[in-house]
Amino acid sequence: MLDQSNELAAWDRDHFFHPSTHMGTHARGESPTRIMAGGEGVTVWDNNGRKSIDAFAGLYCVNVGYGRQKISDAIAAQAKNLAYYHAYVGHGTEASITLAKMIIDRAPKGMSRVYFGLSGSDANETNIKLIWYYNNVLGRPEKKKIISRWRGYHGSGVMTGSLTGLDLFHNAFDLPRAPILHTEAPYYFRRADRSMSEEQFSQHCADRLEEMILAEGPETIAAFIGEPILGTGGIVPPPAGYWEKIQGVLKKYDVLLVADEVVTGFGRLGTMFGSDHYGIKPDLITIAKGLTSAYAPLSGVIVADKVWQVLVQGSDKLGSLGHGWTYSAHPICVAAGVANLELIDEMDLVTNARETGAYFRAELAKAVGGHKNVGDVRGDGMLAAVEFVVDRDDRVFFDASQKIGPQVSAALAERGVIGRAMPQGDILGFAPPLCLTREEADIVVANTADAVKSVF
Ligand code: PLP
Repeated sequence: MLDQSNELAAWDRDHFFHPSTHMGTHARGESPTRIMAGGEGVTVWDNNGRKSIDAFAGLYCVNVGYGRQKISDAIAAQAKNLAYYHAYVGHGTEASITLAKMIIDRAPKGMSRVYFGLSGSDANETNIKLIWYYNNVLGRPEKKKIISRWRGYHGSGVMTGSLTGLDLFHNAFDLPRAPILHTEAPYYFRRADRSMSEEQFSQHCADRLEEMILAEGPETIAAFIGEPILGTGGIVPPPAGYWEKIQGVLKKYDVLLVADEVVTGFGRLGTMFGSDHYGIKPDLITIAKGLTSAYAPLSGVIVADKVWQVLVQGSDKLGSLGHGWTYSAHPICVAAGVANLELIDEMDLVTNARETGAYFRAELAKAVGGHKNVGDVRGDGMLAAVEFVVDRDDRVFFDASQKIGPQVSAALAERGVIGRAMPQGDILGFAPPLCLTREEADIVVANTADAVKSVF
């Protein structure tokens, strides 16, 4: 066993190019890889048999928890019967058609079609193309710019990496800056003046957006994209009134709204979609992660009927849509999606995300909220974050080189709980599987308090 591990470690160090990883520390063997081997419910274990509670559900995606036989059976049956057939030009499978219908049944009002992809990034690439195509069909070739937000996360492709508003994902890649623009992050804790109420800060964000639209020319602005709650940018719920004010501006200038629900879709905020939770009325919705609980890669763009009607006009004028992936609606992935959405209903996970999520966040706030180096404990549904500061009264922040988030998450991991040091800022994030129980929440909270104490 030990020999095999050593051999795997060497192969890993020498051959495996990991995503989003410090290449130097990995190649020099300074950050050994934990080789994951199994999971059940909220627990995962590695090939040394060491167990952890995964309080980040992988990358906020394993919504139903690990080891669900219903989904693995559906995958196995589909692989045996028909592992692959494409979805081009009049083909589909029972599972792909059923899943499209199940998604629309659960989606916010006004949505009518689903375009399937494999990752959140490719779904957002699809969004960009559909937005441009839409405005071309409408005879508005100038209306092409897309406004995203600083701290937004929308993927790491060429265009979607540009949409993402985190420096780490831009640095040294020469991503196209145009036609992507970034506006103010709705990050009350860090960005608001101390004298501002949440409502005032939301107005400030809406004003900045309107100024940007006017400065660029409304006839050039096609769409605005945002996550209902900022995810990778720090797990930051919108300040009071934010979405209402933002939507007011978008409506005024005929700008499409894309709700990126890759994290929030399928229950994480205690409603099926985050748009319903915050009163967002999107024209396009990005979905991935929770759609299959990551048992197989699958994403989608949910299209509002208003947009769909224009796309239909496009095909009537221009012919077939020249946009497709070999693996769009891959049979095995959509079979996983059908079983997953059924399981979310059968286990009543949306309710659990709301109720146990509220319990978890309240207990977390009680346990660490009073610590001198905790500036903010926040979240919504089954999403939570703890932000660390040097001084909470004066909001003095740590220097990034101190790597406070990674230190706390490492201390927590030593205690058998996986949280996530969010990529920018001193923030420990939690996004447990939606099946988390109160007892499991208590274990996560107690170990977090202990980890925080050990670092400061
Ligand atoms: N959009 C959001 C809101 C995300 O959180 C992510 C990934 O974390 C993506 C898009 C990109 O998804 P993927 O990593 O599957 O490409």
